[in-house]
Amino acid sequence: MIDQFGRTVQYLRVSITDKCNLRCVYCMPMEGLPWLPREDLLTYEEIEQIIRTLAPMGLQRVRITGGEPLVRRDVPELARMLAAVPGIRDLSLSTNAVLLADEADALRTAGIQRLNVSLDSLRPDRVDAISRRPGSYPNIMAGLDAAERVGFAPIKINVVLIRGQNEDEIEDFAEITRERPWHVRFIEMMPTGANLDLAAKQFVSCTEALERVRAIADLEPVAGPFGNGPARYYQFRGAPGTIGVITPMSHNYCDRCNRMRLTADGQLRPCLFGHIQTNLRDPLRAGRDIRPLIDETLRIKPERHYLIQGSTLGSGGLVALSQTGG
Ligand code: SAM
Ligand code: SF4
Repeated sequence: MIDQFGRTVQYLRVSITDKCNLRCVYCMPMEGLPWLPREDLLTYEEIEQIIRTLAPMGLQRVRITGGEPLVRRDVPELARMLAAVPGIRDLSLSTNAVLLADEADALRTAGIQRLNVSLDSLRPDRVDAISRRPGSYPNIMAGLDAAERVGFAPIKINVVLIRGQNEDEIEDFAEITRERPWHVRFIEMMPTGANLDLAAKQFVSCTEALERVRAIADLEPVAGPFGNGPARYYQFRGAPGTIGVITPMSHNYCDRCNRMRLTADGQLRPCLFGHIQTNLRDPLRAGRDIRPLIDETLRIKPERHYLIQGSTLGSGGLVALSQTGG
């Protein structure tokens, strides 16, 4: 699958629910969002059918995401179904890890190889404040311990930078890569309908994050762990982990974009932002061939995003990344 700008797309992020058990300040409104009705969600069989259609077209890598994917039942069953699709050689999961401890073993056995875990602070009270669901920290840590124990590798830790809430922990997150084999990725906050004020007033760039880390010790640019993403990676000499930066705002990487997204209700989105999406669910349910729709969606994949700090215009009406899977 090659788009009109010559970018090869072989990676799909599949959101399996719009619901979440947390309310991260940069993501969802406190009161949540109007959830999708159950009948609108793709079933696991429908997701499998779409992946089976995409694989011969060139899809190789799939990430299960949400909302929080682990609030949906039987995710290991979905993982087993997707891992068995010929041509899919990489299956990964993005999670907040709150429910991971009990599921880690089954997910690993089912064929998920790699994990991305959101963790915005190393301090329990701050995790409570940022996630707005007090008491999550011990469960997240138990989830991470279980993930290491059952052999997920690499484990990437996603840290969204928020001025006044966690930017003073940049050094602590960097130091932890000397102790644990974690790949810590600092992420610049992107503006959406739900976080406009926060994104405008409490934005921290990854340039600043890297400066702070370099003040501790020399950093070497490295290739980073296996993955599909836009992060650039660095490492302290001899450290088991790495430090990555994801810079959608300060250094846009759209020219390297290799992905599309499938929302929980079956919309194929060629870009995280913007208005373009194609309903695959209804044609699939009507028994139609969805391949022409996929081809057309790829053809109109935008060249880049047009996010503007403090504005909803560039986000194309997106209220929260939980709606598209991030
Ligand atoms: N619930 C899972 C989690 O938190 O990992 C998966 C879905 S979440 C939407 C995927 C990723 O998007 C997370 O790493 C989260 O931190 C990130 N994210 C959400 N809103 C964001 C925003 N406004 N700017 C930057 N990253 C954001
Ligand atoms: Fe939930 Fe993930 Fe959004 Fe946090 S970032 S509210 S964990 S979907």
